[in-house]
Amino acid sequence: MPDSPRSGIVPFFRARCPRCGKGNVFVNKVMSFKKFSDTLDECPKCHLKYEPETGFFVGSMYWTYALLVGLTVILSVVLYQIDLFEEAVYIIPLIIIFLLPWVFRYGRLLMLYVVYPIMYKEMFYGKDNEL
Ligand SMILES: [Zn+2]
Repeated sequence: MPDSPRSGIVPFFRARCPRCGKGNVFVNKVMSFKKFSDTLDECPKCHLKYEPETGFFVGSMYWTYALLVGLTVILSVVLYQIDLFEEAVYIIPLIIIFLLPWVFRYGRLLMLYVVYPIMYKEMFYGKDNEL
């Protein structure tokens, strides 16, 4: 499907628009820790409105929670395998605090890539597109 409106996995990891895969989603780079969460109002390329209704991104809390649980399980297994499980109580929170900006942003991106096309089909695909 060459003209599918869904953009795929590479734009997801590059934090690009879920529809065209070209426009940025966030205002700043992830390393600008102060304002890493600022999201653009719409895609600068295809003008997809990123927040279809007020409070849309509240749902990203669930994605962030799931990502943090997954990260904790993976880190626990890795630390157990390298015999550092007793230090895990210090190491895991430090790693999670360091990774928090990425986890936060991917929580929002999962809302845009997974929930948006399902719940706001007409806004995402356009009204005349029968998908
Ligand atoms: Zn776009």
